Amino acid sequence: MVGLKRSESRRGIEYAVQPVSPRSAIKPYLCPGCNLNIEIGVAHVVVWRTDSVMGERAGLEARRHWHTHCWQIA
Ligand SMILES: [Zn+2]
Repeated sequence: MVGLKRSESRRGIEYAVQPVSPRSAIKPYLCPGCNLNIEIGVAHVVVWRTDSVMGERAGLEARRHWHTHCWQIA
């Protein structure tokens, strides 16, 4: 993974957003925003909660891959 991790707040929930470069996108993932695959080689973002009551590690284990656009409009 490359790119600068940033924090975003959505509806009172804190998330970490990590950009993934095309070169690092080596597996397809199902985007929870549109329920379509993020194809290999497509830049996207990985998102996870940082305010999980189970701790950030639990949030990290529940991270999801989103199309950049889908996360922006989510
Ligand atoms: Zn999507």
